[in-house]
Amino acid sequence: MKQSPLALPVCPYCSQRFHYKEVMRSKGQEDCQCPKCKQKFKVTLETPFSILIAVAVIAVLLVNVCLYIFIPDINFLYMAGVMLLGVITVILLLPLTIRYVKPENMKYSTRTTRFKK
Ligand SMILES: [Zn+2]
Repeated sequence: MKQSPLALPVCPYCSQRFHYKEVMRSKGQEDCQCPKCKQKFKVTLETPFSILIAVAVIAVLLVNVCLYIFIPDINFLYMAGVMLLGVITVILLLPLTIRYVKPENMKYSTRTTRFKK
């Protein structure tokens, strides 16, 4: 069963759905346990973090360029605000790119899921 690129992960064993907050909590971990079937699985990213950042940077730049074209005397604070919004969007979207996979089905190395501790 193929999921859309941006969706909350489900348990690879029993298809148990997880809440946004639970996924957010699991994103720094390598292993997770399903509360329903008690199986252990790996936490991985569907979209590498670097790609997410690149997309966000491009989007922010485009919005800023558009703003500058339409409002040439735009305040720098607005542009900084757009940048901040881009960063927040990436952080909010992060749980939607997380996938829970069976350890034998790992397609990325575990280092992609390791964030600052
Ligand atoms: Zn499960």
